[in-house]
Amino acid sequence: MIFESHAHYDDKRFDPDREELLSSMPEHGIETIINVGSDLEGVKKTLDLIQQYEYMYGAVGIHPSEISDLNEEIYEWMQEKCSLPKVVSIGEIGLDYYWEKEEEERRNQRYWFCRQMELAREQNLPVILHSRDAAEDTLKLVQGIHGEQIPGVIHCFSYSTEMAKEYIKMGYYIGIGGVVTFKNSRKLKETVAQIPLEYILLETDCPYLSPEPERGKRNSSRNLVYVAEEIARIRGISYEEVTKATRENARKLFSKVK
Ligand SMILES: [Zn+2]
Repeated sequence: MIFESHAHYDDKRFDPDREELLSSMPEHGIETIINVGSDLEGVKKTLDLIQQYEYMYGAVGIHPSEISDLNEEIYEWMQEKCSLPKVVSIGEIGLDYYWEKEEEERRNQRYWFCRQMELAREQNLPVILHSRDAAEDTLKLVQGIHGEQIPGVIHCFSYSTEMAKEYIKMGYYIGIGGVVTFKNSRKLKETVAQIPLEYILLETDCPYLSPEPERGKRNSSRNLVYVAEEIARIRGISYEEVTKATRENARKLFSKVK
């Protein structure tokens, strides 16, 4: 059974067949899915979805590119939602300097990243981190606020193996998805080969980042089979070892999951 640690089924690309697709997950070996908030609308839809599907849990948080959705009132509203039994994480939060070039806006990203990290600490919930083109600032910020006391995962990991090891030192997990199957992702394959299996989580980030051979199409948790197969191939272990270990890792991190 597979634990999907990062999906966006609230995305409008699932509007035509969401129910059909989500109902088919258990028969395709998908045991648990964490639907991850990105903007405010997405968080609200996540809260609906987790009521509808028994195997689905939610992460509440605002993505760095969507922080214009945030203010004190929304922050307090999210704070309230954290106590719902099926809200298991704060995410996705972090820094995205790829899409944001303005220094003032980047500062704003850092501010709300810190606030949401503190929310996680206060609510005793793990974080799901998004970091793109902001390796140095993300690490500095997480270390600066004693991130080692706030468990979490760096989702869709895209930095160096050395950077992965820095996070693992703080107890963080590394989220691996479709990119690892791409022929040109030599760096990520090397990371997957070198870090302990005990720190790897499976994720899709669907509808984005479909693995080979589905690359370019809409992604779904059913494609995690290809990701697990590639990790098994890289590490020279069985597919079952990969799905079993990543499931255990995810259940350790997201401890509110039943
Ligand atoms: Zn995401």
